[in-house]
Amino acid sequence: MRALTVAPGTANSARVEDVPDPPLSDGSVLVKTLALGVCGTDREIVSGKYGWAPQGEQRLVIGHESLGKVEQAPAGSGFQAGDLVVGIVRRPDPVPCAACAVGEWDMCRNGRYTERGIKERNGFGSEHFRIEPDFLVKVDPVLGGAAVLLEPTSVVAKAWDHTERIGERTRSWKPKTLLVTGAGPVGLLAALMGYQRGLEVHVLDHRENLLKRRLLEKLGAVYHAESMRELGALKPDIVMECSGAPGVVRDVLGSTGASGIVCLVGVTSPGHDFDIDIGLLNRDMVLDNETVFGTVNANRAHYQMAGETLAKADKEWLERLITRREPVEQWTKSLERLQDDIKVVIDFS
Ligand SMILES: [Zn+2]
Repeated sequence: MRALTVAPGTANSARVEDVPDPPLSDGSVLVKTLALGVCGTDREIVSGKYGWAPQGEQRLVIGHESLGKVEQAPAGSGFQAGDLVVGIVRRPDPVPCAACAVGEWDMCRNGRYTERGIKERNGFGSEHFRIEPDFLVKVDPVLGGAAVLLEPTSVVAKAWDHTERIGERTRSWKPKTLLVTGAGPVGLLAALMGYQRGLEVHVLDHRENLLKRRLLEKLGAVYHAESMRELGALKPDIVMECSGAPGVVRDVLGSTGASGIVCLVGVTSPGHDFDIDIGLLNRDMVLDNETVFGTVNANRAHYQMAGETLAKADKEWLERLITRREPVEQWTKSLERLQDDIKVVIDFS
C-alpha cells in the first residue's frame, strides 16, 4: 500500500512509497484511510526538526490527524465495518507513570509515551492502518469529511476541560469573556467551544482574513486584526493562547481580569528574550488570583468531548475550516503555507 513517509531528522526526505500492509501488532481493527489533516507538527517533522522513527527503522509513516472507515473489526470490539473513525494519537509509556496508569497519557510525567505519526510509532498516513479498539473513536457519520477535525478539536477540548477545572477552584466562577489569540484551526475551534459555552468571544489575529472574519461573525465573535496592546481594556476572564507567537505570549501574561486564566496551547521555540516587568506581572497575578498554565495532547475523554463539540456545531461552518485538499501523490504541497489556508487535508479517497 502507499504511505507518506519521512526520515526523521533529515530535512526534505518526504515521499510516497510502497510499504507492507499494516501489521497485526498495530491493533485488531483495520481502517481504510479517508483523509489526513496537516498541522505545524507535520511541517516540523518534514523539515527534520522533530519526530522519531519506530525503533530499528529509518523512516516514519507520518500523519496523526486521521479520518477513516472501518473495514474489519473483531466481534466484541465495539466497532463494525463501515464505522467512521478517528485514531487516538498518543500511547501510554511502558513504565507506566502515574498519569499513564490511569489513562491520562496526555499528562505523561516521564516523556516515554509514543505517538502515532510523531514519536516511535507509524502514523495514519497510509492507505490502510491498524489500531487497537481502545485507541479508536467513532464519529457521527453526519459530520462526513469534517470529522477529520476531531483530533485538533480533542486538543482544544483538553484545554477547555482543564481551564474549567481551574476556574472551579472558586465556587463563584462564572466566566463571561474569552480572548483567543491566533486564528488558525486550533484558535477557531477554541472560539467555537467558547461560543458553545455562551461566552462573549474575541479573537485576535495577526492579519485580516475575510474568511476567518466571516466564520467568527457566524459565532457572534469579535474579530480583531490588530495588536494585543490595543485590546488593553478587554480584561477577559479566559485567554486561550493559540498563536505560539512569542510576542503574543508575552502580551497575554497578566492580561486577564481578576481570577483570570491564561491557557497556553500554542508551542514556541526557544530563543526569544523579552523585557518583562516581572515584579508587576507577579504582583498582578498574586493579588488577582490569576493562573497561567500550559496544555498539550488529549486523552480518550477529550476525544469524546471533541466528538460532542463537532456534533453540536454547524456542519457547514466546520467544512469551511477545510480550505484545501491535496491528493496523496502531491501530499507535500499540503505542507506549504498559502495565504488563505486554514486547515489543509490530504485526500485518500
Ligand atoms: Zn507516562
